[in-house]
Amino acid sequence: MRDRGLKILRTSALYETKAMYLEDQQSFINGACEVETSLGPFELLDQLKEIEKNLGREKTIENGPRTIDLDILLYDNKIVEDERLSVPHKRMREREFVLRPLCETMPMPSSIATFQDLLDTLPPSTEVLSPLTPLSSRLDPVSSQNPGRPTHVMAILNLTPDSFSDGGLHPIADPGLLIPTLQSYLNQPNPISILDVGGQSTRPHAPQIPPEEELSRILPTIKLVRSDPLFHKLAISVDTYRTSVAAAAIEAGADLINDVSAGQMDPEMLPTIARLGCTCILMHMRGTPETMNKLTDYPEGVINGVGKELLARVREAEAVGIRRWRIMLDPGIGFAKTQAQNLELLRRFPELRDIEGLRGFPWVIGASRKGFIGKITGVEEASERKWGTAAAITAAVQGGADVVRIHDVGEMGQVVKMADAIWRV
Ligand code: ADP
Ligand code: MG
Repeated sequence: MRDRGLKILRTSALYETKAMYLEDQQSFINGACEVETSLGPFELLDQLKEIEKNLGREKTIENGPRTIDLDILLYDNKIVEDERLSVPHKRMREREFVLRPLCETMPMPSSIATFQDLLDTLPPSTEVLSPLTPLSSRLDPVSSQNPGRPTHVMAILNLTPDSFSDGGLHPIADPGLLIPTLQSYLNQPNPISILDVGGQSTRPHAPQIPPEEELSRILPTIKLVRSDPLFHKLAISVDTYRTSVAAAAIEAGADLINDVSAGQMDPEMLPTIARLGCTCILMHMRGTPETMNKLTDYPEGVINGVGKELLARVREAEAVGIRRWRIMLDPGIGFAKTQAQNLELLRRFPELRDIEGLRGFPWVIGASRKGFIGKITGVEEASERKWGTAAAITAAVQGGADVVRIHDVGEMGQVVKMADAIWRV
């Protein structure tokens, strides 16, 4: 649509729904967007049909499977009654999968209310509309919201000499060690979905290295993993706050960008992610790893403060063209938070997820081996903090995490599996 001069102003999330009318077919993925165009309604319809045709849509059976279906729901306040075109769309009132995404694209609370009223006239649905976030084209998307969803395990691979808990442990891209380690990560009862590769430590006061050095630490590993068909179903995320590193890593075959600063430490980061078209994790933090530990003042409380600031990051991301379905959020445990605030974030995580404007995004929680666990359990050595980490992960799953970022794959995989069995039924 962008290539045809339609300016996309905002989009909804993407929702997976069971087929309506003709029920014996695969699920559909639905979304709505608001566009600005100089085309009139009929010209717009013609353009949309052209796009459908170019994407391989062929007319089969009414309401049957199709590669793509682009409909006009509304056009300003216009009413069109023609055999080729009816606006507002004739059947949108009976379709939750249209009304719900449409609500999300509405700029004004008053217009949201109109569609909310229409939604309320529908018979109660048996299914939750579940937003989908693709990790990569090779993998199943992350489905948030669905109460029975499994929690994804993201394994940390720090290719740094100085990370707070496992720095210096992984010889950089040594195939002799890396490949069997990763194989064992996939042969767990609870295999990992994502490998989070980092070349610059973000622990408090970590010295910053030049981007070239960061890149030289991670690129060989990304290339090695991506070139091995064994790891076809493994997503690689890159833990970086630098644009040049992010772009080169995606180019080399990484799938996601995990930016602890949500674009704040490098002004080009969000536009670059938009251009790359990949999924990103936007984490809450303040300042830099140097200054963050002093920036813990949340006048409205940590839940509202983190929520508000993450919402601002989401808005910035959308404004430069990152789509809603390409965003995952992370409350940033241990980043610009006090001990009490770290605990409160875990305890009240469901409230954070339910903040207006943040509903429906998948959430990543990274609590593994962090200092607040060490303080409570009295365990100095980060790699010995497994028991405390297990409790934190259980709380994260109970609170609705979609992805947990962990160091100890075998043990925490079991913890996640058990927590899923209890909470995700
Ligand atoms: P579906 O009902 O599943 O969208 P089609 O895309 O095949 O099925 O649409 C059938 C016809 O409906 C189109 O050829 C188009 O001319 C007509 N139509 C009427 N109103 C609209 C609208 N608001 N948006 C898109 N197509 C419309
Ligand atoms: Mg159509």
